[in-house]
Amino acid sequence: MQYRSTRGQAKNYSFEEAVMTGLGPDGGLFIPQEIPALPANWRQDWAQFSFQELAVEILSLFIDDSEIPRAELAQLVERSYATFRSEDVTPLAKIRNGFYILELFHGPTFAFKDVALQFVGNLFEYFLERRNSREPAGGKTHRLTVVGATSGDTGSAAIYGLRNKKNVSVFILHPNGRVSPIQEAQMTTVLDKNVHNLSVEGTFDDCQDIVKNLFGNKEFNNRHHLGAVNSINWARILAQTVYYFQAYFSLLRSLDIDAASPEADAIKFDFSVPTGNFGDVLAGYYAYRMGLPTNKLLIATNENDILYRFFKSHAYEKQTGADGGVKATLSPAMDILVSSNFERLLWYLVRETESDDGKSDSEELCDKAGQTVNNWMQELKEKGVFRVADEAVLKAREVFDAARVTDVETSATILSYYTTENADQCSYVLDPHTAVGVAAADDYIQNTEIKTHPAGSDIFICLATAHPAKFSEAVEAALKTTPGFNFAQDVLPEEFRGLLEKERRVTHVERADPQLVMDVIEKELRGEGISF
Ligand SMILES: *Cc1c(COP(=O)(O)O)cnc(C)c1O
Repeated sequence: MQYRSTRGQAKNYSFEEAVMTGLGPDGGLFIPQEIPALPANWRQDWAQFSFQELAVEILSLFIDDSEIPRAELAQLVERSYATFRSEDVTPLAKIRNGFYILELFHGPTFAFKDVALQFVGNLFEYFLERRNSREPAGGKTHRLTVVGATSGDTGSAAIYGLRNKKNVSVFILHPNGRVSPIQEAQMTTVLDKNVHNLSVEGTFDDCQDIVKNLFGNKEFNNRHHLGAVNSINWARILAQTVYYFQAYFSLLRSLDIDAASPEADAIKFDFSVPTGNFGDVLAGYYAYRMGLPTNKLLIATNENDILYRFFKSHAYEKQTGADGGVKATLSPAMDILVSSNFERLLWYLVRETESDDGKSDSEELCDKAGQTVNNWMQELKEKGVFRVADEAVLKAREVFDAARVTDVETSATILSYYTTENADQCSYVLDPHTAVGVAAADDYIQNTEIKTHPAGSDIFICLATAHPAKFSEAVEAALKTTPGFNFAQDVLPEEFRGLLEKERRVTHVERADPQLVMDVIEKELRGEGISF
């Protein structure tokens, strides 16, 4: 399998090149040159597979054996998911008939980004070790200096994915005093030599601007081989496709339905996905395109609703709030102005609406899609908006729908799922991101013809993207009036106890200045014993 850029100027990249470079040379995102179909008997053959076994099957459709031999891929997968606290890796919780929660938060940092970043860390290490083993004795050492900015979740998941990896150093910038206490503690209490936290005097946007500046600095980049772990990396999307399959099979097993039976065919699977940068739900789209039975992928946004507005107006419009920035909501990991991964979906929509038979993948059409996407991204940059043809949005609507959930609805949903008065429903503590997905799903069920199983034929699966203890303020605020609710007892996991008091290592950067950050990076690399 080879990879091409969504902006049309790069193709025939190997998986390794796509993963190690992250972004295409034309500024586009890498996508596979074709979407592989599932093997003919996948339902029978995979029905009893573990998460890890499914991962090997699915990943190997996108990674040639000549790039990573299957046995080595299996080892990478084993190691990546051995750090999860659940045997199923991503277990499914039943809330009521036909309504389930797919818990993606059983990794080291209690958020869904672990599913991808645990794998990406091992992948980086694997490729670097292999490059080094091919160097003659005394040859150069291939290394990667990962630099990223975070408002919370990405930073901790990246740190836990990359800690202790050979030939990788990781520098994570966070705005001083502006990440939650738990998230700050999660990042700064990791004391491995290759992990460096920089707390920068400034905002998240300042941190992000510094990172962009460093990547744009050719000399610095060449000296340190900068690597990125943001959600545009193809390996992150790929790793996330696995849990859609895992959810499908574990659901059928729990209902005692044979995956290859007509009974299984009669069930419609709907997924509701709390969405920010569109990485998580895009993985569901790839699963659907490969052949996973999927009725709807519901894009659930908070009040930063560019995707919701797109499905209404067919215009993708960067709308800055009164203060010119994103709206701060109860679900901060979804506070975005634009969704970077949406570009990948746009590419498919253009290519398929331009072709006569709806699926031709001629090079000409691919190039045309690249040109169109490239133009749109220019328009977005220059005017802050571009419009998409109605047919393309109709095409997207075949499987997608979008919803917008306010903070008030988010809190109300956390409360009503905890204090449920419905005898057939389990009480469950939702984190605010998951609550956005759940509220969107409930609204959707009420306003469409959907009948959830067994009364009808639909099953709704809401993806839970974080553990409620990670966002304690929003959860406590929503549940504080509930008699008997005790956060420490009911929500707080063992791993978080004492976290705030643990030893920390963090370097304070007194001004949001790229030069200061570069100085810190070089000083700390020398401290690791790295010469350059
Ligand atoms: C990153 C994140 C999201 C958004 O996921 P995308 O792939 O960016 O759409 C949602 N919830 C939580 C808790 C996250 O950390």
